[in-house]
Amino acid sequence: MDYQLLADLLFPNVTETPADIEAKYPPRQLPEGAKVTRFAPSPTGFVHFGGLFPSTIGERLAHQSGGVFYLRIEDTDAKREVEGAAEGLIHTLAHYGVKFDEGAVIGENGCICDKGIYGPYKQSERGPIYHVFAKQLVTEGKAYPVFTTQAELDALNAVDKKAEIKAKDWHEDQSAQREAMLKAREITIDEVKENLAAGNPFVLRLLADGDPEKKVPFTDLIKGKLEIPENDEDFVLLKSDGIPTYHFAHAVDDHLMGTTHVIRGEEWLPSLAKHIMLFRYLGFRLPKYMHIAQIMRLDENGNKKKLSKRDMGANMDDYSRMGYAPACVCEYIMTLLNSNYEEWHMQNPDKPYTEFPFNIKKMSSSGCLFDFNKLNDVSKNIISRMSAEEVTQQVTEWALRYDPEFGAHLANNPAFTTAIFAIGRGGKKPRKDLATWADAKPYMGFFFDCKQEDEYPEQFDRSDIKTALEKFRASYDHADDMNAWFEKIKAVAREIGYADDMKAYKADPTSYRGNIADVSMFLRVAVTGK
Ligand code: GLU
Repeated sequence: MDYQLLADLLFPNVTETPADIEAKYPPRQLPEGAKVTRFAPSPTGFVHFGGLFPSTIGERLAHQSGGVFYLRIEDTDAKREVEGAAEGLIHTLAHYGVKFDEGAVIGENGCICDKGIYGPYKQSERGPIYHVFAKQLVTEGKAYPVFTTQAELDALNAVDKKAEIKAKDWHEDQSAQREAMLKAREITIDEVKENLAAGNPFVLRLLADGDPEKKVPFTDLIKGKLEIPENDEDFVLLKSDGIPTYHFAHAVDDHLMGTTHVIRGEEWLPSLAKHIMLFRYLGFRLPKYMHIAQIMRLDENGNKKKLSKRDMGANMDDYSRMGYAPACVCEYIMTLLNSNYEEWHMQNPDKPYTEFPFNIKKMSSSGCLFDFNKLNDVSKNIISRMSAEEVTQQVTEWALRYDPEFGAHLANNPAFTTAIFAIGRGGKKPRKDLATWADAKPYMGFFFDCKQEDEYPEQFDRSDIKTALEKFRASYDHADDMNAWFEKIKAVAREIGYADDMKAYKADPTSYRGNIADVSMFLRVAVTGK
């Protein structure tokens, strides 16, 4: 087979060589040990909690080592792409402190543009680059076309929408498929010419030289030492529309963009053998890989389940709505990522999490358990250490958006609001009442007369409550001191047949309708709603 001729037939318009492309992507000049990481989402919708994980790791590893963290948009699957998703993603990540040095950014006109010299950072704009490397592989006899008719293609697309991971057409090592693959490899130049003349589309497949009986040792930075069976599947590099698969695109991009560490979900682990082969074929140095386990949650029965898209807490927008401060979410993520984070934090309560020496070795290889209770604990601690001014500012901002009526009270009375949040703040043991900004209203709404429904315990006679409140109001004098005031409550208790003394009540509970503590509670609920 004349591979050069084959390559020229398949890619008549590609005139550049890999060397021409490489010249445009000079090696990065970074200090020794600096890591180059990227977040490479397919913008198909909202930012998932599980997406904040790899991005936080990438951000920490790069910035902790004096390296570069960049954003690449993997938008090669037009069918799955959602309009505006990339912009939303950038905003959401920034909200949680994940900021990129380079890559796709939002420009002044509000649209995505490139920052940095290793772009374009949107895969949909890198078509010609992939084709140069694809042509090279054909020239070297490492890739070949498989033609199909448009009708066959339509039928295939109808069943197999997610062609990349899920494609089963060649994956299963059934002998018929293997035979078809081996036969497809035998395509002749004349057949190629005929197909091209007929306008038939082709996919480009890699010619795999692996033997699955043989295992390659591989060290994943999270999973540890693995044995990967060699790849023997002629997987697709370019789809019939010329668009690369994830496998091919990420190899070309991570190489050209100088990525040193790939941090991605463990769902890619089964594809690793393909990637190892592809990097070898392309003559690229393999980056280090970190495959992160799925985030789990406990279901109602206490069983571990994957945190799925629809679960509460999966969508990062939920956290804003529920009123979680970004700093709390970030700290919580750190506790999930590194087992020693909490200990460090206890020793360094005033340092930001960015000063924590994040360590890959302290990551769990089996996946983290997402738990709202834990998040709330972390959150209460952090908020308890914030200044009253800061709490006021954040609660007001949140409430103006999500509870405008309450928000208006706070915004109109900032000094009063700050004074309320100052109660029990500061000192060694600050109050830990708030886990979210949404907790503020039930906690202090009564100061503004926008308390929740009054909640009197069921067991008390409603008329007892009403009489007690009326009597107390009739006797109330603002000039009373604490003792005079309490004497009046005692009097109210006696008048409605409640014990005015706890000792007496405990000695003979059946002769009273209730006691002084109950009457005090009626008043407390009447005033605060709680
Ligand atoms: N676009 C891929 C995904 O969203 C990226 C995986 C990777 O980071 O390499 O799963």
